[in-house]
Amino acid sequence: MTEPLVERMRGFGTTIFAEMSALAARTGAINLGQGFPDTDGPPAMLEAAVAAIMGGGNQYPPGPGLPELRAAVAAQKRERYGLDYDPDGEVYVTVGATEGIAAAVLALAGPGDEVIAFEPTYDSYAATVALAGAALRPVLLRPDGGRFTFDPAELRAAVTPRTRLILVNSPHNPCGTVFTRAELAEIAAVCRDHDLVAVTDEVYEYLTFDGAEHVPLATLPGMRERTVAVSSVGKTFSVTGWKTGWVTGPERHVRAVQTVKQFLTYATGGPWQHAAAHGLRRELAWVEDLRASLERKRDRLVGGLEAAGFTVHRPQGTYFVQADIRPLGYTDGVDLARALPEKAGVVAVPTQVFYQRPADGAHFVRFAFCKRDDVIDEAVERLTRLR
Ligand code: PMP
Ligand code: GLN
Repeated sequence: MTEPLVERMRGFGTTIFAEMSALAARTGAINLGQGFPDTDGPPAMLEAAVAAIMGGGNQYPPGPGLPELRAAVAAQKRERYGLDYDPDGEVYVTVGATEGIAAAVLALAGPGDEVIAFEPTYDSYAATVALAGAALRPVLLRPDGGRFTFDPAELRAAVTPRTRLILVNSPHNPCGTVFTRAELAEIAAVCRDHDLVAVTDEVYEYLTFDGAEHVPLATLPGMRERTVAVSSVGKTFSVTGWKTGWVTGPERHVRAVQTVKQFLTYATGGPWQHAAAHGLRRELAWVEDLRASLERKRDRLVGGLEAAGFTVHRPQGTYFVQADIRPLGYTDGVDLARALPEKAGVVAVPTQVFYQRPADGAHFVRFAFCKRDDVIDEAVERLTRLR
């Protein structure tokens, strides 16, 4: 029988998150792989979803999203970042950030086009670029002074006449880097000089540590008109299963995203949208508590991993820590991740799957710290057995 899967999607197989969560379920290991919290979001926000379901909000919402959510997103962009977006035409609700990114890439890049992304890339980027028939041009993030960053010369060298888009994820999964204004200025200059569109993935916009500030690329000079920003409720409100997100950008670009999104899913689940609007308007104090608690969890896990013998790159944001496995005598993260449940009763994600050339990230594994303190402590205790 011929292979049923279209050629451009071969090689993507099953996502690493599904594989590693299944491994955790099968072995009973502690799952520090897939990034999802083990505690719930704000109670009143959960109630808002229930109220929407019980109150009859169960038929198709408008394709662009419920007006109350679009208004809440526009208010959040204005109040937090000083960015003005028209809720009618410049804000579009999507099925999580994942669909927002996919719809943006499919709308803005096609066969023969090139898309630049910083590597390691969040796993959906390479698959989405392949779906679009475009080619991914990676620019490496490398550890430098304890944080991962890029070489501006390599970014400039990655641009060709075929480059259409640059995907920018900050705070960055899996590196935990929060791009500084200086780094963003380099990216913005490349976008302006080569007339590129930036698609920014800002799902961890609230989850930054040590005073690091999340600066949306759209706030830099000349960037609002060429940036499509994507965010979602999952990480901000600890409701990763709700899959409700939004895209903001100039009207022409948002219309392009709409053209694709309406034929992927048409609309996004209505009850979640009611609750998301509640979250953005009323739960930001809850989010600040979450941020502070994640910062402490970051410290807890980083300290534990260091004590267990890993070299750890301290993240300034997100849910994740990159750990270098070489001090423990390992060289291949995939081999270690597959063996880790048996060796230590813990699951992690091998970072090399987020690279085009696995060798570039062979010696890193990613651990998630969005877990209860007792779970982190138990995982760390088990990992000390690796020595
Ligand atoms: N981008 C990044 C960097 C992520 O870590 C995730 C996972 N939350 C997503 C996108 C997907 O977000 P969502 O669940 O809203 O689709
Ligand atoms: N964003 C989550 C992570 O990086 C996983 C999302 C997913 O499973 N697709 O772990």
